[in-house]
Amino acid sequence: MKKIAVFPGSFDPITRGHESIIRRALPVFDEIIIALGENPEKKSYFPLANRLKWLGMVFGDEAKVRIVKYSGLTVDFCMRMNAGYILRGLRTSADFEFERTIGLMNKAISPGIETVFFLSAPEYAALSSSVVRDILRNGGDVSKFVPEKISEKIH
Ligand code: ADP
Repeated sequence: MKKIAVFPGSFDPITRGHESIIRRALPVFDEIIIALGENPEKKSYFPLANRLKWLGMVFGDEAKVRIVKYSGLTVDFCMRMNAGYILRGLRTSADFEFERTIGLMNKAISPGIETVFFLSAPEYAALSSSVVRDILRNGGDVSKFVPEKISEKIH
């Protein structure tokens, strides 16, 4: 059976941290679906269309990557996509505690779906979309923190 992983997130915006997790996971899976979650309760900084466009600019040429937006439960989306794995990145112990709760709940709802964690590369362990947004709001330079292909577009 094809090993399909869903990498869910808001990607508001995509950072080098996300990019690194996806590239490192590519040899492990047959397909990775970058799943942009639409959460009506979470107000995003960038419009959905931009976030999707930037993901496409970074991964559009990668044959094993698909970019799809979704709403609702991540496990339901995995079922629809025939994905057996949820991919997540871990930076800190706070990430771990947060992810553990979600991972256990997802397992309780859908025992057939495994959550797979990749440790953040050390150079990206302090990087988050929210830090990038803060820098942008204050007129700073984020080119070191977002994928090269989008760094000019995002300013
Ligand atoms: P969410 O809204 O679900 O937190 P994000 O877009 O912030 O979505 O993150 C999606 C996934 O990427 C999460 O598993 C998160 O832990 C991981 N991630 C985010 N930034 C990094 C980073 N710098 N290094 C490794 N993983 C990261």
